[in-house]
Amino acid sequence: MPLRSNWSQRSCSMARGLDILGDPWSILVLREVFFGNGRFDAMKSRLEVADSVLTKRLAGLVESGLLARKAYDDGGRTRQEYVLTPKGEDALPVLNAVTIWAEKHLPAPSDQAHLYVIHTGCGEPTTSADTCTRCGEKLTAANTSWHSRSRSDQPIRLSTASGTGAAS
Ligand SMILES: [Zn+2]
Repeated sequence: MPLRSNWSQRSCSMARGLDILGDPWSILVLREVFFGNGRFDAMKSRLEVADSVLTKRLAGLVESGLLARKAYDDGGRTRQEYVLTPKGEDALPVLNAVTIWAEKHLPAPSDQAHLYVIHTGCGEPTTSADTCTRCGEKLTAANTSWHSRSRSDQPIRLSTASGTGAAS
């Protein structure tokens, strides 16, 4: 993923992690896949991104082992969609942390512009990236929903590495 100089051999694990997770488009691609929106055209439409940018990020996330390609039948034609691997699913707390930090510190330009991290088990928003602040349960993709009013009136259950969870 040659988006910048290669940091994969840096001596600090934070820098090595940012080599993959420090790119905004890559994080937003992961957001779409967690939302169950793993098909190229649907991602492109939601992200309002150029084909070349999306293609490059998807290839990079597959190469880095966070996403995998999976065949699906599109009216008799076989096409590829993108699903999370366990390594990709493990990035969930990073996405949650960015979101929670932004909700705390950055003003939303409209009521539709919030994204809340919800523990599905108790239905409450959490202000911690990996633990429900209401009941203390550890958050996983399987028990987490994201609530974006620009997408749905209801929180959307996240996709997991096994491909269960949200419908697209
Ligand atoms: Zn809870």
